[in-house]
Amino acid sequence: MPIQLFDSLERKLKSLAPSHTDGVFRFYNCGPTVYAPAHIGNFRTFVVNDVLRRLLELEFGADKVKHVRNLTDVDDRTIGQTQKEKRPLAEITKKWTDKFHADSDALNCLRPHVEPTATGHIREQVDMIEVLIENGNAYRAPDGSVYFKIASFPEYGALSRIKERELKVTNSAFDADHKDDIGDFALWKAYKPEEDGDVQWPGPRTAAAGRPGWHIECSAMIKKHLGETIDLHTGGVDLLFPHHENEIAQSQCCNGTTFARHWYHSEHLLVDGTTMSKSKGNYYTLSDLVEKGYSPMAVRYALLMGHPRKQLNFTLESMHAAESALGTLRKAWARFATTASATANKPLAAQDSAPVSRLDRVIDALRDDLNTPAALGGLFTAMNEISDGTATFADSVAFGRALSILGIDLSEKQNFSIPMEIFALAEKRWAAKQAKDFAAADTLRKELATAGWSMLDSKTDYKLEPLKKA
Ligand code: AMP
Ligand code: ZN
Repeated sequence: MPIQLFDSLERKLKSLAPSHTDGVFRFYNCGPTVYAPAHIGNFRTFVVNDVLRRLLELEFGADKVKHVRNLTDVDDRTIGQTQKEKRPLAEITKKWTDKFHADSDALNCLRPHVEPTATGHIREQVDMIEVLIENGNAYRAPDGSVYFKIASFPEYGALSRIKERELKVTNSAFDADHKDDIGDFALWKAYKPEEDGDVQWPGPRTAAAGRPGWHIECSAMIKKHLGETIDLHTGGVDLLFPHHENEIAQSQCCNGTTFARHWYHSEHLLVDGTTMSKSKGNYYTLSDLVEKGYSPMAVRYALLMGHPRKQLNFTLESMHAAESALGTLRKAWARFATTASATANKPLAAQDSAPVSRLDRVIDALRDDLNTPAALGGLFTAMNEISDGTATFADSVAFGRALSILGIDLSEKQNFSIPMEIFALAEKRWAAKQAKDFAAADTLRKELATAGWSMLDSKTDYKLEPLKKA
């Protein structure tokens, strides 16, 4: 069965296959904006894309997938941060790029084959803007900025199905100055000393010095690293409009050919029913959860517990469920390891032609629109069936393969995990403290200590740690 994935443009499931004669599947995923830590909502998108990448490699061969993911290191948000902190742009973006890499590695996400930066591709962006001006798809505004003229691209809105009238309303909050039409968007932004500090580059011919608009970077980097037509373009659902709509307009008007053959958008992670976001401040980072005692692998597992095309509400209870599922998988792994060595003298991870196994349903579920909860469910059903000691060598190989495509690394050293009842006591004590019932809070602290745990409070949160044994 080929990999089927929902295509947001055609609104149906479509099979994935490479289109270029070299057989290399070209895959682009919009990356993070590096001005602050990525939260686990962002990582839901990156973990889902990591499973997709692993599945593509299984399907087409590890050397037949080229995965590119950018780093947005110049835009309104990164520049806003340099103004706030009064520090150079490069210093801020390096700090958050390093943190993003460390968190991605901890979550066992494969690094993309190319990770281009916007600031490293100014020339490519300027070149593309010049072509768009020459083709009559872009124009210089009086202040020296350059805008894309959406009236010049009749297909504009095909991805988001946005109607012209809605477009005017939606875009009216954006930089409305100097445009011919309110829907037009910036390709190049003229330098504004009061906003941009020392961030500026020479612009396209006829334009002023300044910096690229956000959308053009992906079009330019894709063209350079993957070519004019790619096989799959992905990102979180918020990028569908205007970012991806604008990418299509820029690339197709510049190159005169289909830009992406398949569009995939994964849904958001929510907290208390609203989108987790930096601007709302309602987010957890990986470090927040590690400080609470959870392992990065459990975070990865929890992010895969919901269908990627459905919103997923994040709770600390789901982290407990994830830690406990990992514990069960570790026990099963140990059992499989025994079976494997008893039945054949081959390493467990052998990826050779394995006979049919009950565990093949895990990969089948992923092939079916990346259904990660069904894949995890299939893993557990098969484990229950096999728990009577009937595991075959094929099961062992399929188990290893399933875990490796899901990116679940069971060898990870656990910090420690917090038993549910300890967590419940801690929550109760925190609530008592917030309600200024200090006597109750004190009693609960003692109960926790008796159970072997200490609770370290900060102003806004707490951390649980196991007490050192005397
Ligand atoms: P940003 O760093 O804001 O450019 O976002 C990086 C990626 O995270 C993009 O693909 C976004 O669509 C995605 N994203 C942002 N918020 C969430 C969320 N709450 N849940 C899942 N993905 C998100
Ligand atoms: Zn992009």
